Amino acid sequence: MGAGEPENCLARRRRSTSARLVLPSLTLGVSVPAEQTDAIILRVYPWSETSCIANIYTRDFGKLSVLAKGARRPKSPFEAALDLLSICRVVFISKSSDALDILTEAKLQKRFRAGSRDLLRLYAGYYVAELIDRLTDKGDRQPEIFQLAVATLQTLEHAQFDVRAIVLRFELQMLRLVGQLPSWKRCAQCGQDACQTDWVVFSALAGGVLCDDCRAGARQTLRIASAARDTLEHFSRVDWQEENLEEYSSNHRPALRAVVTRYLTVMLDRKLQLHAYLEELGR
Ligand SMILES: [Zn+2]
Repeated sequence: MGAGEPENCLARRRRSTSARLVLPSLTLGVSVPAEQTDAIILRVYPWSETSCIANIYTRDFGKLSVLAKGARRPKSPFEAALDLLSICRVVFISKSSDALDILTEAKLQKRFRAGSRDLLRLYAGYYVAELIDRLTDKGDRQPEIFQLAVATLQTLEHAQFDVRAIVLRFELQMLRLVGQLPSWKRCAQCGQDACQTDWVVFSALAGGVLCDDCRAGARQTLRIASAARDTLEHFSRVDWQEENLEEYSSNHRPALRAVVTRYLTVMLDRKLQLHAYLEELGR
């Protein structure tokens, strides 16, 4: 192999990269448009001594990773807006391809305050951030996910809403919105009606309940009461905003938690960090 060939490739790439950098702003004088939207802060981590990267979920652009230059300085241009779970008005410059978008402004609109009263509600808030971050891809626009997250954080702040109902609704609606809702009525393997007794068999691997025929030989299944299945189906429905989160009672809390956490773990092929902190929801 000639030693000259890789060098030429490298030189060509260098030339094309610098051309991309220079052309828009200096040569043609075209200004880069800034976008404005509302966002929830999902994750913030240091990038350099003065800057950090934030994963945010926006109302209009889905999930973004933005570079916040100067955010770690004492007098940061973003003030206290970049706290986990804060809702902000943001302005950013969109970068094409895989480059990070640049955050130029973030104005705090609402801080998440549930944690000052109740640790379980604080963890539930962190879980909102974790689950959205895991279940969505960058740039996947879903305004309803933003609405659901805002509604979930708001209800967590008010003691009259049951934290178990809030989390269950959030989990199932997230699954519905990303197109991964389990099958609650029809057998996940063959499609026939799987609910003819007062209990059903759920398989996280199959992605839903199983009929009599298909459950023979199925591994790692959960046997749950049909009433628990009804609750799961009820919380999965499209009109989630109508849900009464104040009058929630269920005798099937352990089963509901087991089904949802196991399903998410299998689907994402990993344990979610916050599941360990939310075990109380199943008691
Ligand atoms: Zn079947």
